[in-house]
Amino acid sequence: MRTPVIAGNWKMNKGPKEAAELILELKPLVEGAKATVVLCVPAVDLQSARQALRGSKIRLGAQNVHYMPSGAFTGELSAAMLREAGAEYVIIGHSERRQYFGETDETVNLRVKAAVAGGLVPIVCVGERKEQREAGYTDALVTYQTLIALTGLTPEEVKKVIVAYEPVWAIGTGLTATDEQANQTIRVIRDALSARYGKRVGNAVRIQYGGSMNPKNAKGLMAQPDIDGGLIGGASLKAADFAQVVHFDR
Ligand code: PEP
Repeated sequence: MRTPVIAGNWKMNKGPKEAAELILELKPLVEGAKATVVLCVPAVDLQSARQALRGSKIRLGAQNVHYMPSGAFTGELSAAMLREAGAEYVIIGHSERRQYFGETDETVNLRVKAAVAGGLVPIVCVGERKEQREAGYTDALVTYQTLIALTGLTPEEVKKVIVAYEPVWAIGTGLTATDEQANQTIRVIRDALSARYGKRVGNAVRIQYGGSMNPKNAKGLMAQPDIDGGLIGGASLKAADFAQVVHFDR
């Protein structure tokens, strides 16, 4: 059985003080959750978030990691730095990073390898743009993105990775893939993992859906057999909304 994982992606929202306030509001609301709950906060919030999270099962994550351990990479952060600041998870290859910051499948792969080597659990984002879906490329594209991202990891390492299937056209738009559409594409990713690494690995990897997931649609999406959680942007910025997604099973 795969434990569902609901992760909030705060993107470039909230400074250290607001981060602590939101966490203190959220903590009692998500107590008793069956899912693993992760908050991927801006890097400058990690310290205050870690303090605010004391006594809670909520895990902390970052939104990007560089692939080198140290050196002349102005503005970047290494896996060891993020670990020391309290992160256990890290989002890698989010479509916004691919679109605005030149992230490629190859740099995603380098970051994934560095994250795993540095003891962080990567949340690897894959997904198609609208025109790619319309042209019928979705399955081939997400398969390629996933397999390239994980190249160089051992099967045991792959088992611990989280993949987030995020159709780009559904992120921040209010448009959501239907429950069946999301499950079908996630199934394609799982089959590709099974074909490459064996069924034991394919069945173990947690694959989230992301793209305008909210309290209204979470239950239906999570009822699908291959969807193991969500990566939540907008709805993770309001404690009550995020808590409702976390408690999708109630
Ligand atoms: C995201 O940022 O990964 C995301 C899914 O955003 P939203 O939930 O706002 O669509």
